[in-house]
Amino acid sequence: MLSDRIQVLSESMTIAITALAQQLKREGKDILGFSAGEPDFDTPHVIKDAAIKAIEEGFTKYTPVDGIIELKEAIVDKLARENDLHYTTDQVIASNGAKQSLFNLFQSVINPGDEVIIPAPYWVTYPEIAKYSGGIPVIIETDDKTAFKMTPDQLKNAITPKTKMLVLTSPSNPTGSVYTKEEIEEIGKVLEGTDILVASDEMYEKLVYHGTRFTAAASVSEDMFHRTVTINGLSKSVAMTGWRFGYCAAANKDLIKAMKKLQSQSTSNVNSITQIAAIKGLDGSADADIEMMRQAFEARCDEATSLFNSVSGLSVVKPKGAFYLFVNHKEIEPDSMKFAKSLLENSGVAVVPGAGFGSDGYFRFSFATDIDTIREGVRRIESFIENYDKR
Ligand code: PMP
Ligand code: GLU
Repeated sequence: MLSDRIQVLSESMTIAITALAQQLKREGKDILGFSAGEPDFDTPHVIKDAAIKAIEEGFTKYTPVDGIIELKEAIVDKLARENDLHYTTDQVIASNGAKQSLFNLFQSVINPGDEVIIPAPYWVTYPEIAKYSGGIPVIIETDDKTAFKMTPDQLKNAITPKTKMLVLTSPSNPTGSVYTKEEIEEIGKVLEGTDILVASDEMYEKLVYHGTRFTAAASVSEDMFHRTVTINGLSKSVAMTGWRFGYCAAANKDLIKAMKKLQSQSTSNVNSITQIAAIKGLDGSADADIEMMRQAFEARCDEATSLFNSVSGLSVVKPKGAFYLFVNHKEIEPDSMKFAKSLLENSGVAVVPGAGFGSDGYFRFSFATDIDTIREGVRRIESFIENYDKR
């Protein structure tokens, strides 16, 4: 009964494990959840107030598919002000989360057999939507020895005549690694003279630590500006995961038109109230809240990293951004599915196995939760490891 297309698609592992942890909690089990990819903070008041006003004023109807003009202007202004990227309003489109932006993009550019280069560890969704779009994911392996960053040579070797797109995620989910401006320039040089697109997922742009500087991929050269499709949103930076807002910017107006056409036949516009709220997340009104959350994540990042690095058998590269640790547990157990399952069943700690991100022998631990829960989580993981062989 089911289409061939849907059968190649796997469910999002991050969402599945988080749902399982929540179900176990509801059943009364003592579960600590570190699998969710969302901030524990509430959406800032300035954003909520704008939404409440929009409801009261009756801003509750359909809008243009790609977003109201005020929202598109706010996206254009944000990209110019913060990233030195200069687009017009017909080069941007608002969607129901960056996930839909990515889905629209892959569906609009991938033909059957096209190759999509995805450095691992990768966010769970990329290979799935590449396959769903008829594409072939080409995975470049990286590990903690290079802080999970792909080298220009690795990229060069992965390119074939069928390569259509490279996915870049900086800061990275799940490792928190961040490419420097120079590293992105090097990547850009490898791509020069090809028709390869870059999908630059910049969701964690605002969450960078210890003086790390974020660089927008499209900003490093004229060539990169033209080949890069910038994907961003407010889920992580302004704690708006449930509101469903993301956006995409591209120099190629026909690509934006294609994405709009697809969206017009699927979800239509982003919720009208979310659009009004999102303007406040983009225009600088929430900057103090963003900085408060960033500082809290930075403090947790420091503490969680040193706690894990003091556990015998585990090691972690300190992240430069995002809110995840990608912890190496190969000394204890090479199979990440087995490790994470046993940890959940025996110690009530939910983490996401590295296999879901294409890198076995690791687990992803989200530190987007309070510090006491983090300490208790690491304590449980340590005692789980001490007893691991006996099980
Ligand atoms: N990209 C990355 C790297 C993410 O971690 C997420 C989190 N879900 C998304 C895109 C999608 O976010 P959203 O759809 O909530 O905007
Ligand atoms: N991006 C988040 C994560 O990695 C949310 C879950 C999802 O959308 O898959 O956990």
